[in-house]
Amino acid sequence: MNFDLTAEQAMIRTLIRDFAEAEVAPGAIERDRTGAFPVEVFEKLAKLGLMGLPFPEQYDGGGADTICFAIVVEELSRVCASTGITYSAHVSLGGSPIYLFGTEEQKRDYLAPLCRGEYLGAFGLTEPDAGSDAGGTRTAAVQSDNGWIISGSKCFITNASYAKHLALTAVTDRSKGTSGISAFIVPTDAPGFSIIDNYEKMGLHASNTTELVLDQVEVPKDNLLGTDGNGFKQFLAVLDGGRIGIGAMAVGIAQGAFEKALRYAKQRKQFGRTLSSFQAIQFKLADMATQIEAARTMVYRAGWLKDQGRPFKKEAAMAKLLASEICMKVCDQAVQIHGGYGYMREYEVERFMRDAKLLEIGEGTSEIQRMVIAAQLGC
Ligand SMILES: Cc1cc2nc3c(=O)[nH]c(=O)nc-3n(C[C@H](O)[C@H](O)[C@H](O)COP(=O)(O)OP(=O)(O)OC[C@H]3O[C@@H](n4cnc5c(N)ncnc54)[C@H](O)[C@@H]3O)c2cc1C
Repeated sequence: MNFDLTAEQAMIRTLIRDFAEAEVAPGAIERDRTGAFPVEVFEKLAKLGLMGLPFPEQYDGGGADTICFAIVVEELSRVCASTGITYSAHVSLGGSPIYLFGTEEQKRDYLAPLCRGEYLGAFGLTEPDAGSDAGGTRTAAVQSDNGWIISGSKCFITNASYAKHLALTAVTDRSKGTSGISAFIVPTDAPGFSIIDNYEKMGLHASNTTELVLDQVEVPKDNLLGTDGNGFKQFLAVLDGGRIGIGAMAVGIAQGAFEKALRYAKQRKQFGRTLSSFQAIQFKLADMATQIEAARTMVYRAGWLKDQGRPFKKEAAMAKLLASEICMKVCDQAVQIHGGYGYMREYEVERFMRDAKLLEIGEGTSEIQRMVIAAQLGC
């Protein structure tokens, strides 16, 4: 057993840590306040060749492994979770469905531009009445002479305003239940397609979260992704990989909050001593560091299993569940260690706490992760 990063993983860590400190951290407080989307950060990530990191070089990807991808998500989220979720969704929800289920032509036409960072990737599963129960999809596609006509709506979709196309699910045969759900690649500029960007969120203010409305949107028959009736299964498989991204975000946010708390505890004096000299504060910091290490190990292990081509559904769900719950606890303690200052925007840990909450909800809530794990245990 070898717990060391490979030379490539260590190199990516150094590269992205330096980039995150220099290019992402400085504007994070302001972007949280204004909701400005970090377009220029993604242009620079594209220049660094990171936008298609875990996809093969033949599609203009980086040919790197899932742990490299997780490291990039972690380091971006350590300073700005909005940037972290945008990157994670672009790769694991935008690129992966096409990589896993697309034809060669679809990969060339739709995956390669994502890998080059020409625009962002997105994924449309959730609907107003179909969240945890994604099999309850109402959006429907009917066959036309030229292809498919899709009508319906999706909610809470990350990155869609910055995407030129996205994969989404629609019912093609209602009598077959989840086996009557298919996946389609839909251009976002197709007539009848609208993207509404006006949610007011608790956190992740600089990430793009949208509502999609499809009114008789026609796509060619070549835009079916995978096989007719397999869309639900395909999207669940995509979410298995996406959970490694969410787990990595949780590790990164928790690490960022912990580092701020440690630094503050060493500087702040009360009763004539630094906070870090009080055993009550030391124990909090020790617990935070221990929990983060456990979460990181689980996230990397799930990524490693995926790269070995071994089953990783259970491990990805466990990693996402543990990391997201730990992240909330670590952020809560980071605010506590900062006292009143922790409640103020300037000290950033309150932003980390607001951003962290999404991780217990997105890509399957904690309750859904427990259901996935229990099913894998044979319950
Ligand atoms: C910022 C943000 C970004 C997102 N990005 C995307 C995206 O890019 N693409 C996409 O498709 N979706 C996206 N989502 C949607 C997200 O995946 C869903 O919000 C999530 O799956 C939960 O669905 P819901 O909100 O409908 O909650 P519900 O399913 O209504 O759940 C409400 C509560 O009930 C619980 N619950 C539901 N069913 C059960 C059960 N059987 N047993 C026990 N408890 C249960 C849930 O755990 C939760 O606590 C995003 C959401 C947010 C907030």
